[in-house]
Amino acid sequence: MKIALTVFAVIFFTTPLLRAQTFAIPLGSRSVSFHRIDSQVSGDGPLLISLHSNEATSTRAARSLLVNYAGKLIAIDGGGQRRIPLKQGSNRVTIDPNRVFSLAGVKRDMDRFSIYSAAEAGQCAAFGEQIIKTCNISKERPVIALHNNTNGGYSIDSYLPGGSEAAAAAKVSRAPADPDNFFLVTHPKLFDDLVKAGFNVVLQDNSKAPDDGSLSVYCGRRGIVYVNVEAQHGADEEQKRMLEALLKLLGTR
Ligand SMILES: [Zn+2]
Repeated sequence: MKIALTVFAVIFFTTPLLRAQTFAIPLGSRSVSFHRIDSQVSGDGPLLISLHSNEATSTRAARSLLVNYAGKLIAIDGGGQRRIPLKQGSNRVTIDPNRVFSLAGVKRDMDRFSIYSAAEAGQCAAFGEQIIKTCNISKERPVIALHNNTNGGYSIDSYLPGGSEAAAAAKVSRAPADPDNFFLVTHPKLFDDLVKAGFNVVLQDNSKAPDDGSLSVYCGRRGIVYVNVEAQHGADEEQKRMLEALLKLLGTR
């Protein structure tokens, strides 16, 4: 835990140009810290959001690019852990912060661990609503979600017929690239542009994707332009290349 916190601090507090500000959002009886970094480049730019604090490769890539591109990065401070405890100091009930954007999603997540209670699920859904409000997630600007995965697990192939995520995909385009590194998008135009640029890309089926409480489904159902930039842990250069290609595409829209 100490190492994770140190890594997090190093990522967020070593670039003097871009200073992080911290704010908190209540979750049950505690509050969860988030760090916010604003690019100094003029223009609106997208919202870049990191909801899994163990996925540091993606936040490193985002932070380095905000020196040259407009936008804002908001990253949860989960102490280097993916799941967030509802009570400080107790791991009895935890939630995946990317499953809090609907009550149905929270319930699914809690049921997986047999920890569901209506009261605590309500607290998690309220946490999700507050993230949406505080981060101003709306059709006004694109949302870029930052994620990392492990080699050989969840990948673009999970969206192919027979895969665990197949029900969420309208189209899948496989490039001759590492399947762990891929985009998931909610808009057909971005799908086409990223395919043309040679990347692995999934177009989410916004009406049929099961409501898992994720930000991708939340945005897809509301017509919000959303892109998940997913890369393998440690694939810093590749994730930076993917993110930069995306920022350029969004910048010229
Ligand atoms: Zn993630």
